[in-house]
Amino acid sequence: MWQRGRMSHTAPVDVDLALVGGGGAASLVLAALDRRGIRGLRVAVVDPVHRRGQDRTWAFWGRPGGDLDPLLSASWRQVEVVTPAARRTLDLAPLRYAMLRSGPLYDRAAEAERRLGVTRVVAAVDRVDDDGERALVRTAGGGPTVRAGWVLDSRPRPPARPGRTRWLQHFRGWWLAADRPVFDPGRAVLMDFRTRQPSRGVSFGYVLPVSDRYALVEYTEFGPTLLSGAGYDAALAGYRDLLGLDPARLTVREVENGVIPMTDGPFVARPSPRVVRLGTAGGATRPSTGFTFSAMRRQAEQIAAALAAGRPPVPAPAYPRRHRWMDAVALRALDRGPVGGPEFFDRLFDRNPAERVLRFLDGTTTPAEELAVMRSTRPLPMVAATAGDALHRLRDRLRPPRPAPPVPAPVRDGAAPVPPDRAGA
Ligand SMILES: Cc1cc2nc3c(=O)[nH]c(=O)nc-3n(C[C@H](O)[C@H](O)[C@H](O)COP(=O)(O)OP(=O)(O)OC[C@H]3O[C@@H](n4cnc5c(N)ncnc54)[C@H](O)[C@@H]3O)c2cc1C
Repeated sequence: MWQRGRMSHTAPVDVDLALVGGGGAASLVLAALDRRGIRGLRVAVVDPVHRRGQDRTWAFWGRPGGDLDPLLSASWRQVEVVTPAARRTLDLAPLRYAMLRSGPLYDRAAEAERRLGVTRVVAAVDRVDDDGERALVRTAGGGPTVRAGWVLDSRPRPPARPGRTRWLQHFRGWWLAADRPVFDPGRAVLMDFRTRQPSRGVSFGYVLPVSDRYALVEYTEFGPTLLSGAGYDAALAGYRDLLGLDPARLTVREVENGVIPMTDGPFVARPSPRVVRLGTAGGATRPSTGFTFSAMRRQAEQIAAALAAGRPPVPAPAYPRRHRWMDAVALRALDRGPVGGPEFFDRLFDRNPAERVLRFLDGTTTPAEELAVMRSTRPLPMVAATAGDALHRLRDRLRPPRPAPPVPAPVRDGAAPVPPDRAGA
């Protein structure tokens, strides 16, 4: 169960820092600690799964340069936002949209683990007890324990209480290989709203090309309920057809499924003095978009900088409070109100420089820029949503607290249709 070299232990181990959960957020922390050359810090990672290889693809924007650049599969200076009415090409300079597959990041984290001399515990954690001086990480079934000065906990969990809006971003993507050039590797499709819109929620397709013959093509919905496996396949096939791609000339090489919470339910980032929650569990997922990666990366850098300076590894909140409020209002307007998703996003990109919208979605704009972004939405539905949100908050205060339901697992069945003549290609 313990792995440091090939040694076996049963006694508790003392470390300075325990990473509970070793997925995206923890991998970014390990890479950031290593990049800063931090040595002599006793670190443990506790996770029942040692993440390796491809289990997700991260797309995010930012300035070019930095330690992740060599790991990227692709990046684009230009992206398209498509509605039934218009096709908009956005120049993102000085930013760019980038794709990082999980394999290279997990490899980078493994390299960092070796250099940092990390102790890896392959076990599920079921409790973390914090006495204010140290935290005791207990693994399931009375397994080994880790005593840590600080715990960074990224185990998936629902928000502390149900959100006023409880949507999910749920999706299926196909990695498509074509037998001739059909994709434009010079630009990605960020959001294509020509897909059939669900009765409640928003849907869109997108295309992330890594070459003129290879791309991730995905169908995404923002909404309260998942589709069936066959439903995702039908929606993806529909989007593929909308792109004018001939299924007979394509091979589905991989399928990617996911569910990400989109909610204004609160994710508690500091449950006790020595425990910090990270990643989706710590509120790094932007409620209005599901984007998480940039906030996780920002917080990983803050943690590494703090430790390098001998300070507690406590990052700033993933998003400013006013952004969480704006997201609550936007989600409400999309869910209850007369604001259509395609129209909402189209207006954002139509009336603001792309770079401002992207920084807004990352939570790094100034209040003046946020006002400009807010002004680009239709005022009346937003005022109604603001009032509705305020009333709902008041009602919530008067109700006894209730637990939030867990985020459902992604639907994996309903295999992608591979043309029989291409199977195994
Ligand atoms: C398929 C997919 C694609 C995504 N694409 C994007 C994207 O393009 N852009 C973006 O910004 N965001 C994206 N996201 C959202 C987000 O960036 C990812 O979910 C990201 O991996 C979140 O990191 P995390 O560390 O919070 O969770 P995870 O990466 O899921 O890591 C959680 C870890 O906790 C471990 N764990 C679970 N239970 C226990 C336990 N009891 N004890 C110890 N460990 C435990 C798990 O094994 C796992 O390793 C995507 C999510 C998914 C699922």
